[in-house]
Amino acid sequence: MQLFALNNDNESILAQEALRHKNYLCPECLYPVRARGGPHKRHHFYHLKGNIACSQHKKSLEHISLQILLFNTLPGAVLEKPFPQIGRIADVYWEATHTVFEIQCSPMSLQEATERCNDYQKLGIKLVWILHQKRFNKKNISPAEQFLRTHTNCYFARDEIIYDQFEICRRSRRIFRGPALKIDLRYPMELTSTKKEPPEIMKKRFFQWPYYFPGDLTSHFINGKDFSSIFAMEKKFMPIKKPSLGAQIKRFYQIIFGYLLEKASQ
Ligand SMILES: [Zn+2]
Repeated sequence: MQLFALNNDNESILAQEALRHKNYLCPECLYPVRARGGPHKRHHFYHLKGNIACSQHKKSLEHISLQILLFNTLPGAVLEKPFPQIGRIADVYWEATHTVFEIQCSPMSLQEATERCNDYQKLGIKLVWILHQKRFNKKNISPAEQFLRTHTNCYFARDEIIYDQFEICRRSRRIFRGPALKIDLRYPMELTSTKKEPPEIMKKRFFQWPYYFPGDLTSHFINGKDFSSIFAMEKKFMPIKKPSLGAQIKRFYQIIFGYLLEKASQ
């Protein structure tokens, strides 16, 4: 389901302004869609025939609610903005900062996540991902979630709240999750470098994330909040690095060589 569809004149029509029982076209897959909704259900278009490959078709009501939340939060933001050069329709595009907000409420493959990031990167567009906690932020972390949380700004959402958190992950398991830190997306700030040594969770952010936002974990760190408990937690849970096999073999020969040398000099 989606908020916009095309009429016979190829014009973009908002679901709440569309006529009932009239066919429109999905701008992504060009399959017929119709409008529904009313006082108790948000207006949206639905595909008459399911096209499982169409990302607009896969969207849920939670997805649309988050799109509208961002639309109401970010001044001048546009919903369902087509980018024909890469064959994609962005959930929310904020032209003032040249940023796309992608919302994800359903499972996604690692390939899909990387392709979407690469496509927008090609256009020089910055990406912020919002992953709904209905599917994400669980104990088991999918490869796509693992990739997005390190690759570009990536936060979680529940109901009408978008949040960040401190977490400790080991391989594909989330072993510790801190409280939800509500963030304010209206004020993106450039993330460059820091004089202070950041905790492990933030090191990748300083290289990969284009922004930080008021309220997120990075903003707390930059604004000098006490991070001693976070450092202590990381120290407790981070795996102690075992020496590599090569280093172990080298050490073995050093001991043998040392022993022989000692013997020879006697
Ligand atoms: Zn479609």
